[in-house]
Amino acid sequence: MEDCIFCKIVRGDIPKEFDYEDDEVVAFADIHPLSPVHLLVIPKKHIEDFFHVDDKTHMAIANAIKKLIDKKELMGKGYRISVNGGGAQDVNHLHFHLRGPVGRGE
Ligand code: 5GP
Ligand code: ZN
Repeated sequence: MEDCIFCKIVRGDIPKEFDYEDDEVVAFADIHPLSPVHLLVIPKKHIEDFFHVDDKTHMAIANAIKKLIDKKELMGKGYRISVNGGGAQDVNHLHFHLRGPVGRGE
């Protein structure tokens, strides 16, 4: 997708420091963080809908998020994983928000 901002980040057209990268996934800091840690974990391929993720990509995203929770030392401090969809999202390239530390009910 030519005009997709996250595809541009994946391609390196927009320079960005990655907190995580493998063949399927990259993660980088949200430009407007809502928590001390606020990362966006995204598939490298342009997938728009959470329900269109294949098993391989799904497992790669889960693996990346787990590694980032460990890297950012969020286990025990509280983390939140969220996906906006159905029109609640601003960017139509699937992304998982990983935020922390967060408390219950925050
Ligand atoms: P959504 O509302 O689509 O779930 O969230 C999109 C997120 O992407 C927002 O939290 C926004 O701050 C973030 N974002 C939008 N454009 C950029 C960008 O160019 N770079 C980074 N790092 N984050 C972005
Ligand atoms: Zn894209």
